[in-house]
Formats: sequence, structure tokens, C-alpha cells
Amino acid sequence: PVIIALVFLLSVAVIITIVFVQIHKKEVLSPGLKYGVVIDAGSSRTTVYVYQWPSEKENNTGMVNQTFKCNVKGSGISSYGNNPQGAAKSIEDCIEKVKEKIPSHQQNSTPVYLGATAGMRLLRSQNEKAANEVLSGIHSYFRNQPFDFRGAQIITGQEEGVYGWITVNYLMGNFLEKNIWRAWARPHGAETTGALDLGGASTQISFIPEKSGQSFKSTVLVTLYGYQYNVYTHSYQCYGRDEAEKKFLALLVQNSPDKSSAENPCYPQNYEVQFTTKHLLSSQCTESLSKADFNPEQTVTIWGTGDPALCRQMVAMLFNFTACDDRDDCSFNAVYQPKVKGKFSAFSGFYYTASALNLTGYFSLETFNFSVWSFCLQNWNKLPLILSKFEETYARSYCFSANYIYYLLVQGYKFNAETWPQIQFQKEVGNSSIAWTLGYMLNLTNMIPAEAELIQFPMSR
Ligand code: AMP
Repeated sequence: PVIIALVFLLSVAVIITIVFVQIHKKEVLSPGLKYGVVIDAGSSRTTVYVYQWPSEKENNTGMVNQTFKCNVKGSGISSYGNNPQGAAKSIEDCIEKVKEKIPSHQQNSTPVYLGATAGMRLLRSQNEKAANEVLSGIHSYFRNQPFDFRGAQIITGQEEGVYGWITVNYLMGNFLEKNIWRAWARPHGAETTGALDLGGASTQISFIPEKSGQSFKSTVLVTLYGYQYNVYTHSYQCYGRDEAEKKFLALLVQNSPDKSSAENPCYPQNYEVQFTTKHLLSSQCTESLSKADFNPEQTVTIWGTGDPALCRQMVAMLFNFTACDDRDDCSFNAVYQPKVKGKFSAFSGFYYTASALNLTGYFSLETFNFSVWSFCLQNWNKLPLILSKFEETYARSYCFSANYIYYLLVQGYKFNAETWPQIQFQKEVGNSSIAWTLGYMLNLTNMIPAEAELIQFPMSR
């Protein structure tokens, strides 16, 4: 019986080894790669992302990597309302570079998506014809390209929020992980990470609240790998960094005795700049401001006084906190928001501003406030020495942006000294950028299988 038992154990061991080697062999000799391209047509700029994954592992998690990113020169496609062909022309250089990254025999099977966000949502509501022409210019351009072009769409704020949330959690491996038996399973504890995205024209918050499903309107049901997630998401149109700053400058001018100049406590001392009234008032986001005797070509001079206390006080003008009547399920402007819960990832504009203050990853609210205060005190002449990359339009605005972030996160979303350290300010995981684009592609290519329909968005535009 001892010999029989030994033979039996030996055969079991041999079988296990064979199975193990087979699994490994398949992984090592992974044959083809597949590619996907997503163009993020943001309000301030367009970015092209190339993703790649092993073809036989399409439905596994964590297999899609970003292999190339190209920043399109110039402004976002929504600025081409008067010159629709220009939008397509602007992305040509990047598309040529993408062609060098994808083997030519695979280009016609490579899906390409263009998703446009808040800048185009604004253009569409101001001038629908211009927005359609910009998009059809892009369609025509791709007719002569070798790719499998799947369309140029203006996505909703909810989609932007949820796809950002999917990207964060996919890249962090929060949906599924390989267990010791090399099988995919839901991670122990199964906590997800919330997503905070600060764009140029809108900002999004998305997370799974303690008690989900309270408000159908702001909750999106996401089914991934057979699990259902009720994601609370809200997109604040006009609360992106650039539009918020434009409104702030317009308010400063409106409140100044002499309408052709104004002091800005958020610009550094020694900094002075001129804008046309048109620049400050022509956006839909500044529509509510008085346009009495509005001369679009009139120039206004704005000079910085670098006053951290006054800057903090005045940025509050952008928010209506009293509309919430002290309700704790409300952020600002009477928007419903459940209490924030768990970890968060703050990317794009949140990351750029924090990193200019030398703050990345996790840090305390006290550290943030201290850094903002000392940054706001810096003279304009000193900024090139402090900032690792000096660009005038970004550099002059970091003090404003940091105070804006304070109001959004603390007075608005209600992060406090205890919960703020749960926010990680980051721009990527591994080499993949955190942006809504990856989640968008994973969903549209059915790469995250679900038993039910993939994602159910309440009807909205
Ligand atoms: P995006 O992620 O391109 O939509 O940009 C989000 C916001 O960050 C916009 O307000 C941009 O103006 C701003 N931004 C983009 N790149 C930088 C940068 N390098 N430094 C500071 N701000 C930036």
C-alpha cells in the first residue's frame, strides 16, 4: 500500500506540474498583440492614447497598457467652431505618429474612438451646427485613414465620470486579481477607489457611497465581471479649472470701480496681464454676469497682488454653498452628494496643481494649506526658480487653482482633515495615464465582460 500511495502521489505531482507548465508556456509564448486608440478631445487640448494588450487575454483584467501618448499641438477642438476643418488638421501629426506604433497590417483592425468632453458640450449648446461640423470634419478625415474608426462622440458628464472611475479601478487591480491558484477572483475586501477629475471646463466626482442607490439620477449601475457597482457620479459643467478661472477674473473686473482694470489677489505680485472683455465674457459659463455696455474688444488689465488670505476668501464667490442649507448630503449649488467614502484618486488638473506645489501622492490637508499659502506669497520673478517647468499661463494661476481645489474638495465635497489623507494625487498607474479614455475603450470593446448589459446610464445628454 505504501508503494501504491507513493505512485499515486507522484502521478498527481506530475499532472499538476504538466498543467502548471502548460499555463506558463501559453503566457510566455503569448502570440499577437492588439491595439486600440482613444482620442480625448478635451476643452483645453486633445490627447491621443494608444493601448495594447495580448490578443488571447482580451477579457482578463489588468492586461491593457498604454503604450503611447501624443499631445496635439494647439487648443481643444471646440475652439475650431469657426474653422471646422482645422480640428481634424490639428490631430494629423499625432495620428501619423500613431501609425508608426501600430504594425501596418493591424491598422485596419485597430479601433479608434474620439470622445469629446465639456468644451464640445458647451459649443454644442451655444452653436449646435458648429459642433456638428467639427465632428463631421473628423469623420471625413478618418475616412482616408487605415483605422477602424468607430466615431467621434460628445460624451456626457456622467460617462466622463464613470469611465474615469473604471480606469482608476482597472489600473489599480480593484476589480479582479489572480489568486494563488492563478484564477481570477474578486480581491479580498473588494474596496474600490473614488475618482476626482479636474478638467478645463468640467470636473467630476465618482465613488461608491456607503449606502448606494439612494438617488437614481446620480447613480450609474456598472456591471463588471459579474459584479454590480452602484457608482455615484456628478459632473459640474463650468467648474473645470479654466472656466472657473475665467469666471473669477470676470467677477473681479465686474466688482472693480474702473471696469478696465482689476487687482487679482490670486496672481503673484509683479505680474500683470491684459485680456479682451470677449475673452472673459464670451463663454457660456460667464453668461450670467452682467454684459451691460459690453465692448468685446475692450482690454482689461489685471495685476497680481499675491495675497493668500484675500485669494482664499474671494475664490468662494464661485460657489453657492448656502444653497445646500447645511444639509450633509449636498456639495454646493444644491447638488446631491452622499458622504465621501474610502480612498480617492485625484488626477488631471488636481495632479498638475498639487505637483506644482511639490505635493504628489498622499499628504495632509494641513500640508496642502501651508504649501498653498507660501506659494501664493511668491513674487512672479521667483516662479521660474521654483517651478520645474515654467509656462506663463499655468504658472500665474497655480495660486488660484490651489485655492479652487480647496473649496471644491473641502467646502464642496466635504473632505476634512481626517479624510483628505485618503486622496492620492497622481497622474498615472505604471505607465498608463489616469483618464476616462481607458474605461471608455474597455467598455466599448466589451473587454470587461458582464453578465448583464455593460453600463446602464440614465437617459441624459
Ligand atoms: P486636461 O487634463 O488636459 O483636461 O487639463 C485639465 C486642466 O489642467 C486644464 O485646466 C488645463 O489647463 C490644466 N493643465 C493641463 N496641463 C497642465 C500643466 N502641465 N500644468 C498645469 N495645469 C495644466
